[in-house]
Amino acid sequence: MNARAKISFSNLQQEVIDRGLCARCGVCAGVCPVGVIRFDEERFPVLDGRCTECGFCVRCCPGGDVDLPALSQQLFASSYDPADLQGYTENLFVAHPVDQGVRFAGASGGLVTGLLLYLLEKGEIEGAIVVRMDPERPYLSQGTLATTAKEIRDAAQSKYCLTPSMEVLRELRTREGKYAVVALPCQIHGLRKLAAVDPKLAGKIACVFGLYCHCNLNPNGHLEAIQACRISLDEVARFDFRAHGWPGGFFVTKKNGTGVYLHPSIIIKDVMNVMFRLFGGWRCYLCIDALAEFADLSFGDHWAIDYPDNLGKMERCTLVSQRTARGLQFLERAAADGAIVIHPLPRERASKRILTMARGKKERSFVRLLRLAGKGKPVPDYRCAIPRPPASAYRKEWLFRQFFLLRGQRARRLVLKILFSPFGAFLDKVNTWRKRVFGDYHGN
Ligand SMILES: Cc1cc2nc3c(=O)[nH]c(=O)nc-3n(C[C@H](O)[C@H](O)[C@H](O)COP(=O)(O)OP(=O)(O)OC[C@H]3O[C@@H](n4cnc5c(N)ncnc54)[C@H](O)[C@@H]3O)c2cc1C
Repeated sequence: MNARAKISFSNLQQEVIDRGLCARCGVCAGVCPVGVIRFDEERFPVLDGRCTECGFCVRCCPGGDVDLPALSQQLFASSYDPADLQGYTENLFVAHPVDQGVRFAGASGGLVTGLLLYLLEKGEIEGAIVVRMDPERPYLSQGTLATTAKEIRDAAQSKYCLTPSMEVLRELRTREGKYAVVALPCQIHGLRKLAAVDPKLAGKIACVFGLYCHCNLNPNGHLEAIQACRISLDEVARFDFRAHGWPGGFFVTKKNGTGVYLHPSIIIKDVMNVMFRLFGGWRCYLCIDALAEFADLSFGDHWAIDYPDNLGKMERCTLVSQRTARGLQFLERAAADGAIVIHPLPRERASKRILTMARGKKERSFVRLLRLAGKGKPVPDYRCAIPRPPASAYRKEWLFRQFFLLRGQRARRLVLKILFSPFGAFLDKVNTWRKRVFGDYHGN
């Protein structure tokens, strides 16, 4: 793009949003110097005011293109291989905060929250961009700038819902000091582009904490799940995506004080596998970054069940991919000061389950990218050759696509009703048995 040409929100609209490439990450709104980008009900950006044609939104947008090889050189002085499942990784750790309250309130082992609390206490950060549930409408997620320990604690837990939380970046413009950002892979791609576009704003980011991400859900996903269990949204006092122990699951606390676990007999992983097919964001299906490869530290579930020895006893822990020196420094200092406990994990012992997730996400995306590009359809440009996936990936992608037939409103309601019924639990058991017999199984 000619750097001198005026670039406006209408470029973002035409080149990204209208072409189905918007990741709904929120970076465009976060970098807009005049704050005229808002989000609609489905969390797509809309212009709400006069665009000054600065082009920041387009230049930071990760939806249409992101130069992953250049990012890899910039951040790690290393080449980039899209087929590498883990991305550039210096060390792997299994870790948890010492504070058991924080540990058990987290999605995995509470490490993200534990580290943020440590950095805040030590004055390394003034706050963090995180995702909480909206206090007014507690079934909706929203980005927020947490500047107190209580706000950071209240935002613990994963929200499996597309949330343009990077819009909160705009609050940093008028603030002093440094901030942590918790973000998904697509959001991190946008954050890394920001460094070249608005170095002053990017300079306020002390560290980027990435979350491993298989896929994210459209905003109506969990709402329809709640309603499929005959709970009205007006009754909801609190919604947790992962309550009730680890790995936990969808849990509604009602205004009358009672609580409902939406899928008592099905593990969250299996529920999410169905939800991703019914409600996955389109741009998520084209993403080739599973383990937040461009973060300082990336975090995911430690499936203790994958390990036969002492690691197998370490439940309620978070798995950490340490990628930058800054990330290592934060981890080591927090451990030395007794805020967290870290155990090194040799790279070759990386969780089988996580690698299966990363392989599944990458290979299915490779199939889609090649197929769509071959038909002249819009795909993101990662500035690298897309590897040719194995034949099994084509089969899996074909099966995945059959689920699209069920994405109509009535069909998906029916699927959810079945999923959350005793019959759904029975089908899940059959599926687990199928995986065990046909070898696609490791663990619980
Ligand atoms: C959409 C999504 C998909 C994921 N997919 C996988 C996966 O396939 N495999 C895997 O191992 N792990 C996955 N994770 C990461 C995992 O769920 C945990 O978030 C991670 O292990 C950190 O756990 P913790 O207990 O240390 O974090 P916690 O202490 O619970 O803190 C989590 C932090 O993440 C922030 N956060 C929550 N939701 C979002 C969001 N949507 N966007 C940005 N920030 C958010 C919270 O505000 C909080 O600060 C996913 C997370 C998300 C949000």
